[in-house]
Amino acid sequence: QTDSALRAAAELVREVPDFPEPGVLFRDISPMLADGPALAAVVGALGRDFRFDVVAGVEARGFLLGAAVAQAAGTGVIGLRKPGKLPEVADRVDYTLEYGRATLELPAGTLRAGQRVLVVDDVLATGGTLGAACRLVRQAGSDVAAAAVVLELTALEGRDKIAGEEIRALLSV
Ligand code: AMP
Repeated sequence: QTDSALRAAAELVREVPDFPEPGVLFRDISPMLADGPALAAVVGALGRDFRFDVVAGVEARGFLLGAAVAQAAGTGVIGLRKPGKLPEVADRVDYTLEYGRATLELPAGTLRAGQRVLVVDDVLATGGTLGAACRLVRQAGSDVAAAAVVLELTALEGRDKIAGEEIRALLSV
């Protein structure tokens, strides 16, 4: 039943060619999030059987998923943010993307040392973003319970950038 619900949810991922730049096939999970049964299936599957104290969602679609996973599990949620958004930053990690550089920031007063964190995002592509999120968690003296995404783009071998962490991808292409 979970499998068929996830298969139905997978049908709601839109493929948009040449976004945000030529040659990239963008996978947009917005229609999946907009569908009640699909959202329930995805949120249930992301956190199932993991033990964690708090969820960290990556800006921006990871916020929507992460908050839902946290609510279902009865934990809090932390938004890992792109630079320039937070009034107080506890820590930041710079990382390289396929083209250029990026940064993720941890809001002050959120993560406590020793907490077990479930990191959530929508898509695992090159793995730079999820790897940076896991690094932020570990730099805070906390543990990564797992990194969970809806969709993994396996050809990009992003998993290799997050070696050592447990990774759950609900769908892979
Ligand atoms: P990554 O290359 O794994 O660091 O991915 C960077 C971020 O961009 C992730 O948070 C993904 O949500 C997003 N992303 C990268 N590639 C795609 C894609 N082909 N379709 C949708 N989202 C993507």
